[in-house]
Amino acid sequence: MKLSQIGEFGLIDTLKKYAPVSKAVIKGIGDDTAVLPYSKSEYLLLTTDMLAEGTHFTRRMPPESIGHKALACNISDIAAMGGWPTFAVVSIGIPKKLSVKFIKDVYKGIERTARQFNISIVGGDTIKTDKVVINIALLGLVEKKCLVTRDGAKAGDWIFVTGPLGGSFKSDRHLNFTPRLPQARFLVEKFKPGAMMDISDGLAGDLNHILKAGRVGARLDYASIPRHKGAGLSQALNDGEDFELLFTLSPVKARSLMDWQARAKSFYFYPIGTITADVKETIKSKSFTHF
Ligand SMILES: [Mg+2]
Repeated sequence: MKLSQIGEFGLIDTLKKYAPVSKAVIKGIGDDTAVLPYSKSEYLLLTTDMLAEGTHFTRRMPPESIGHKALACNISDIAAMGGWPTFAVVSIGIPKKLSVKFIKDVYKGIERTARQFNISIVGGDTIKTDKVVINIALLGLVEKKCLVTRDGAKAGDWIFVTGPLGGSFKSDRHLNFTPRLPQARFLVEKFKPGAMMDISDGLAGDLNHILKAGRVGARLDYASIPRHKGAGLSQALNDGEDFELLFTLSPVKARSLMDWQARAKSFYFYPIGTITADVKETIKSKSFTHF
């Protein structure tokens, strides 16, 4: 069996069988982060992301932005669970001939974002590799009552995104995006979404994860999907790396969020469709997957 036959998610399903999970684990593989025991009122969140030269970035891109992205995509996953980031370890694979300046600048980018989001860098590893590889593991916390997973979407819920989509990779946005942490914290404190995740692989594919996890379907109002300038509908549906949040709210909460934002105008949330009971109503996707 070749990797291209089972795809990225087929591979994850296969590897999952070899991942031992004790009873203490609240959520293992399959959400934006793992959810682990911590205190009486809080859960510990743990996530990791790896960026590789050639796949996610080239050496011609600004190294500070590469460092920023390596940390920011982890922060985005912590936000998608409703939590806030705390501690990180940074590991980097470095080709022998790479300049010290390049590595320093990658770390400067990591530092700037870590300071911005109050994250301590507490360790890591450096090894010699053929191409630059950066891996960050990030811890976070979330109040138990604020945790939002992917599996809570119910028929009738409204579907929202936090911002325009499409064309992220062609622009510099995939390197310079701001994780939607304040929006996520606002939502979990005031409205508590049914399901939430960040859009890393593309709206259509990522929404299908929510549908599968909640055993529901969805109907999108395609005209209402916010798009970046120059991005068509297909790009808004299928381009990855936008790192906006995708979430669902009961109709009552959805209407009250719309009322709130008509007055407040600090964040804007875009309603793009509704969850249905029919599991056959999935969204056709050409989402990005590795392999
Ligand atoms: Mg995610």
